[in-house]
Amino acid sequence: MDVNSTQLEEIIKQVINNLGGSAAPAAPKASSGTVPATSKAAMLTAIEKYEIKEFPIPELGDDDILVKVEGCGVCGTDAHEFKRDPFGLIPVVLGHEGTGEIVKMGKNVKKDSAGKPLGIGDKVVTCMIFKDNPDITMFDLNKQNVGGADVYGLLPDDDIHLNGWFADYMVIRGGSTVFNVSDLDLESRILIEPSAVLIHAVERAKTTGILRFNSRVVVQGCGPIGLICIAILRTMGVENIVAVDGEDKRLEFAKKMGADKSVNFKNHQGIEALAQAVKDAFGGYEADFGFQCTGSPVAHSNIYKFIRSGGGLCELGFFINGGDATINPHFDICAKEITTVGSWVYTLRDYATTFDFLKRAKAIGIPMKELITHKFPLDQINEAHQTNLRMEGLKIAIINE
Ligand SMILES: [Zn+2]
Repeated sequence: MDVNSTQLEEIIKQVINNLGGSAAPAAPKASSGTVPATSKAAMLTAIEKYEIKEFPIPELGDDDILVKVEGCGVCGTDAHEFKRDPFGLIPVVLGHEGTGEIVKMGKNVKKDSAGKPLGIGDKVVTCMIFKDNPDITMFDLNKQNVGGADVYGLLPDDDIHLNGWFADYMVIRGGSTVFNVSDLDLESRILIEPSAVLIHAVERAKTTGILRFNSRVVVQGCGPIGLICIAILRTMGVENIVAVDGEDKRLEFAKKMGADKSVNFKNHQGIEALAQAVKDAFGGYEADFGFQCTGSPVAHSNIYKFIRSGGGLCELGFFINGGDATINPHFDICAKEITTVGSWVYTLRDYATTFDFLKRAKAIGIPMKELITHKFPLDQINEAHQTNLRMEGLKIAIINE
């Protein structure tokens, strides 16, 4: 049979049509096809006052990503900004512990910051926006933390407006770190940012060489930060953990997260009695290592008394300036030779490590999800923040329908 090229092309087309396909290859999807013209965003317009505003969804640049927001945690940082505007950001769309689904992306976007493919429908989180410090862009354990970088949710308002996660849509601009976390459920994704703070703290603690599987570890402060600290230690295989807090409800939760014993400081008058109670909880021993997870100067002064000679301490509670704390350098540091490290924020590498931690925590049955005690829709964001200020519950989250 003699077949020329035109006939051959015709035959191939027929075969493809018979297979139910099309002769032309399908173009990659640029959007999910359901992007509205405008998006709601909760803008903090005055102290203790969010207003729900409607902004046009802008044209995307070739490196930009449009995300439909699914949810975002309310952070202590948001609480400070809501109450006093210490960062001078008003008017601002807050929310930095957010996650959502990609609905549209620029043609240059192919992979996330860890090299994983990115596409429409993928669930993502952002970490930070790089401007002028190449040192923090590296996936290197020894690089500095990202404390000086910009993050979505703490950006001054501009003509894009959709700069924070307390909104229906957010624009991730080229040059930002973005991670494909489609393999994590919504609650886990909301807990990524605060968990990364603790992954970093534990990495800092490990540099002392004192933290081991069988270490006696005291965790002081059982807000979300202390509780996640306990969960991380537990997933690492550290079992001898004593939690210290002033609320019995939080101490009960600490046990669910993996603490072995707990001490309510309100039941003990004076530091000697409290230190003895912590020692008793360890069966008559002082702690090998301490994590200080409160923003209270007195708590910083106290924790040295719980730690044995030659032990270690990681101070991570002072995320913002909480004032001076008094210690006795002779008794607290020199004579006992306590090795102290400070910890703040996280590195990019810690962020990626956090995804694995959340999977491990789930696998061994640590109820991370229960940390999110309150869920509010976006239009109740003022009530969400007031609930947070009243210190009801643990992690408060905005969840979009
Ligand atoms: Zn935060």
